[in-house]
Amino acid sequence: MKAEILCVGTEILLGDIVNTNAQFISKGLADLGIEVYHQSVVGDNPQRLLDEFRKSFERTDIIITTGGLGPTQDDLTKETGAEYFNREMILDKNSLTQLESYFKKMGKSNLEGNNIKQAYFPEGASIFPNPHGTAPGCCMEQNGKILIILPGPPKEAKPMFENYVVPFLKKYSNGVIKSKTLRVCGIGESSMAESVSDLINNSVNPTVAPYAKENDTILRITARANTEEEAVELIKPIESKIREKLGINIYGENDDTMEEVIGKLLINKELTISSAESCTGGLIAARLVNYPGISAVFKEGAVTYTNEAKMKRLGVKKDTLDKFTAVSSETAKEMAEGIAKTANTDIGIATTGVAGPGGGTYENPVGLVYIGLYINGKTYVKKCQYSGSRDVVRQRATMTALDLIRRHIINS
Ligand code: ATP
Repeated sequence: MKAEILCVGTEILLGDIVNTNAQFISKGLADLGIEVYHQSVVGDNPQRLLDEFRKSFERTDIIITTGGLGPTQDDLTKETGAEYFNREMILDKNSLTQLESYFKKMGKSNLEGNNIKQAYFPEGASIFPNPHGTAPGCCMEQNGKILIILPGPPKEAKPMFENYVVPFLKKYSNGVIKSKTLRVCGIGESSMAESVSDLINNSVNPTVAPYAKENDTILRITARANTEEEAVELIKPIESKIREKLGINIYGENDDTMEEVIGKLLINKELTISSAESCTGGLIAARLVNYPGISAVFKEGAVTYTNEAKMKRLGVKKDTLDKFTAVSSETAKEMAEGIAKTANTDIGIATTGVAGPGGGTYENPVGLVYIGLYINGKTYVKKCQYSGSRDVVRQRATMTALDLIRRHIINS
């Protein structure tokens, strides 16, 4: 079975919103083993929508739409679906009752104006209730063609897809496609790809593919099989080979975040931590605080931007700053030691660098960052050179600093 995704909304065409619905639906269909060859977007225009239904159904069996189920006159997805299949629009009493109770819950005594339109469906359609909003979805089947209509807001479309569409489509699935993502830090995308190039080039099922995201390098292993269990079994040996080659460079899998990985490590090992940040300006502290439960180990985060703050708050020596400057290995070392000592923590992490775009010199070019790490009574400094905007430099330095903590905890 083949499917297409057709998102309705002028806002998407104008670039006002990102088409995240297409993304999660594609992913969900891939997990079901249903192939998606096309995704399209049309504005709120019934004629173009009807044309699109005609064109898409010539090459596909299933169309899933999102959007255009609202109460206004230009929300016409269901009506256009009814026209395509030549069906009447009929009031569904159940949906009307649910709509009325939804409005009551929202403190409104009566169903307002056009909202009643949301309880009308093409004759014979199966209806998907929407406990998160006012627009139920629906599904029609005719002559081997299936039209599934979902609301636009992702918080409504997603649960409807998972709770109704996935169980409905299971009978059309050609097995499953399952992916596992390994998250890598500390080596670039090209070195990572080179280390596992034989697997990337020669694996057929599962396939192995590298991707570089803004702050992350990932390897995705994708298997196709008859059942989820079989797909998991196919992934296992390839994953082991990759882990053998990339070792500690893999920091997590699937939806893991670096802060989650570090938070768990710190809590398990009962290691307290503090941070002293110059060029990253609190990003390290913010990432750590993303992890719920971090308060057990994260004691303090200081943003020590000026030389004065570095001396006053962290005890960096004036001599060090005069002789080596603020952006130096020596300053990073004293910052890490200073914060660990004054905050009384096992670990102190510090950053000092030139985030740019101005302020670079021949000795200290834009993108140069020193990361200091005090741990188990020893201090390490990593010199990094990044390229990119101010934001990219700050984000990358933050990621490297967090990764440095991770590596030292694992190796200690
Ligand atoms: P409503 O009942 O809220 O009017 P609807 O089904 O008519 O819903 P739209 O009016 O098309 O949906 O979209 C409502 C909102 O849902 C949009 O403003 C946007 O925030 C979000 N949305 C719509 N389509 C998408 C999409 N493809 N990806 C992500 N968000 C979307």
